[in-house]
Amino acid sequence: MFAEYFSKFNWQQVEDRITTATLQSVEQALSKKDPLNLDDFVALISPAAAPYLENMAKKSRELTLKRFGKAIQLYIPLYLSNECTNACVYCGFNHNNPLERKTLSETEILNEIKAIKKLGDFEHILLVSGEHPAKTSFEYLRNAVRLCHKQFSSVSVEVQPLDIEEYATLVQDGVTAVYVYQETYREETYKLHHPKGKKSIFEYRLHCPDRIGIAGVRKIGIGALLGLENWRTDSFFTALHLHYLQNTYWKTKFSIAFPRLRPYAGQKQELHTPSNRELVQLMCAYRLFFPDVEISLSTRESAHFRDHAMAFGLTTISAGSRTDPGGYSISQNELPQWEINDSRTPAEVVQALKKNGYDAVWKDWDSALE
Ligand code: SF4
Repeated sequence: MFAEYFSKFNWQQVEDRITTATLQSVEQALSKKDPLNLDDFVALISPAAAPYLENMAKKSRELTLKRFGKAIQLYIPLYLSNECTNACVYCGFNHNNPLERKTLSETEILNEIKAIKKLGDFEHILLVSGEHPAKTSFEYLRNAVRLCHKQFSSVSVEVQPLDIEEYATLVQDGVTAVYVYQETYREETYKLHHPKGKKSIFEYRLHCPDRIGIAGVRKIGIGALLGLENWRTDSFFTALHLHYLQNTYWKTKFSIAFPRLRPYAGQKQELHTPSNRELVQLMCAYRLFFPDVEISLSTRESAHFRDHAMAFGLTTISAGSRTDPGGYSISQNELPQWEINDSRTPAEVVQALKKNGYDAVWKDWDSALE
């Protein structure tokens, strides 16, 4: 399990390694013909690599074109519920927030699907919910997956961490990918930001991608919420995790995302969020270390940034997203989980892709291919 491997690394020592990386180590990483290793990744995410961004971007673009062509996959999230027993301090769905709570009924899910189908040719849907074992029980989630499986070729979930058998059951029901973000790999900081509910158990979440891999889910998505901690150090641990998972579950596909945290109500700690330039550096470093991995950016990022990021390794984006339950067919005013920064319609996003010479890929998977 990853936890054993993870325990061999010390946060401060990793941070020092990144801070003291040299220009030579960056140049060595960039001149390599062989696959890169973790030391190279450390060099590429370090402050020393900043002057080499143009070179990194060029290599990253070439590698992405070679592996993925000029194609960007599109998906849309469907928020099932904003009820949550956790109290993640940065989240709009935090249990302590005085917000009107809603969990979609079966009819409402079907209405959302109908509304989504009118927005575009979406074939990839991501089901998202707060973590509330009673309101969004495993059976509730199964039913939602089965409803979507009838109308979408790819159904992913970003819901509460589950056990191996539950993930295996979801695969039978039609789930093709599971996304679970560690948020931060520094346990002390994790505890500070996740004070309540099952999510407060750091290890249970850390073990989750292993459980998903053992259950045989086709694709696993991981990532850190950039800003909770030193984003470079958290990115090292995310890469360590991804590297371990790729070696352990070699039949599985992987996806990486790097959501940036924004200021939130009641914020006490300083945010360690990367700038646009630093985020591009990070994206390129991931692409160079993981040539085949899916790199995803949600509508949390601006239209301008997403349009430019296509050239540096991005492969997957959401479009037309609503981040409140019922957002497509019922309300337009509920408190979202996070603020949307790219509010273009799917048609506008497709147009922007075309303008940049990219094809929009609505469907990238069919269970008949298995
Ligand atoms: S981040 Fe997820 S688990 Fe945490 S409060 Fe928000 S919805 Fe709940």
